[in-house]
Amino acid sequence: MEKDIFCKIIDGEIPCHKIYEDDDVLAFLDISQVTKGHTLVVSKKHHENFLTTPQEEMHKVMDVAQKIGQVSVKLLGANGVNILTNCYPASGQTVMHFHVHVIPRYEGSEGFILEMKNNSEGLNLPAIAKKIKEQL
Ligand code: AMP
Repeated sequence: MEKDIFCKIIDGEIPCHKIYEDDDVLAFLDISQVTKGHTLVVSKKHHENFLTTPQEEMHKVMDVAQKIGQVSVKLLGANGVNILTNCYPASGQTVMHFHVHVIPRYEGSEGFILEMKNNSEGLNLPAIAKKIKEQL
């Protein structure tokens, strides 16, 4: 079976702007920044999505997502954060490997409905990744 893109990132075959890593979890900036600091928290073992991930591994991913959300509010000046995870294509899941989006929200973009638009232009991803990483 062909590896998905997150398995390739985990195995070091594709680069990423890494924020956090331990034996079970990897976190890195989403290549398509919906907002500044948009991060993906990924289980290292391959599971299709949140619903199919064993509870213990799912909890480890959520612990890291919580920490990164806290840092986003404290450090990046976000006014809020969306923590979301898509399950199956009908929900918008495009990478079939369990991951949680941590999406900092800033003044002027309030509200639950979030357009998953690429707003990466002009953002310095290595600098953002370094800033978050240093606080974890
Ligand atoms: P989802 O639609 O919930 O499956 O989200 C998948 C996310 O993976 C999207 O937001 C993509 O921008 C992101 N993505 C895809 N390829 C990469 C990559 N090479 N590095 C970082 N993020 C990626």
